[in-house]
Amino acid sequence: MKERVTICEVGPRDGLQIAKTRMTTDDKIAWIQSLAAAGIPEIEVGSFVPPRVIPQLADTAEIVSRLVPTNPQWTIQVLAPNLRGVQNAYNAGVDKIAIPVSVSEGHSMANLNRKPAQSIEMMREIMAWLKAQPRKVPLIAGASTAFGCSIDGVVTTAQTVALCKGLADAGVDEIMLADTVGYAHPAQVKEVVLATRAEIGPVLHGLHLHDTCGLGVANALAGLEVGIRAFDSCLAGLGGCPYAPGASGNVVTEDLVFMLESMGFDTGIDLDVLLASRAVLHAGLPGEAMHGQMPKAGLPPTFRRAA
Ligand code: ZN
Repeated sequence: MKERVTICEVGPRDGLQIAKTRMTTDDKIAWIQSLAAAGIPEIEVGSFVPPRVIPQLADTAEIVSRLVPTNPQWTIQVLAPNLRGVQNAYNAGVDKIAIPVSVSEGHSMANLNRKPAQSIEMMREIMAWLKAQPRKVPLIAGASTAFGCSIDGVVTTAQTVALCKGLADAGVDEIMLADTVGYAHPAQVKEVVLATRAEIGPVLHGLHLHDTCGLGVANALAGLEVGIRAFDSCLAGLGGCPYAPGASGNVVTEDLVFMLESMGFDTGIDLDVLLASRAVLHAGLPGEAMHGQMPKAGLPPTFRRAA
């Protein structure tokens, strides 16, 4: 048995929120289904934010309502900003809910309009509500700006660890360390992962990486080397953060999967089918730049899947 690494494709959420043109609901569904056909085990399909905040994601409720009855084999994840969003997501029938919580105060105020300490209070209320529901829906907290912030600048390891400790104490199921603006480097990734795990143990789940400075895959490798086995990524490296000026795309799913499978980690993803998903994305969002080194070079003939 090869060791498993779980990829969560966040393109339909993180990848679309600052896209210049709007993708139709039908095109999104076609894209999501092509991602699922490649074997991606978890897909973040949208966000239950008020439609005026991110118009690109205004059709999330419809997308979920069309996907849930198909009983997909993969995990339907959505983002929610607060308790109201969590309740809407839960009632829509999603499998997993992600909540962004910023480590840095500047990003927290700009993005969420609350201080980090208030986010932890909010998380306690959310967990209390979720635990009172009949259906178990795991909650994953994304610790945004865990490695640096475009507004506050340096974010210390101690700041990140302290926020994660607060989230773990509030009872969240999993925590992702998010390099929201893409300032992290591999040595820093190792340091923050090890320090966070020392404090909260296995509640530390994975890494959400951006490729702003070209270090997305290098940072993933650093995380892998210190035991991280879950990553968020975006097909074609779409995405960014509307409240983080200068931030460019997420780490490229195709490049990440190519590295993992080549190294012998089983992602469950078929790269040929995944590469075909790029055409489906491009058809629905023709104006958007498509990133990725391996897709441009083509899958090398020496490549062998791990599984
Ligand atoms: Zn992101």
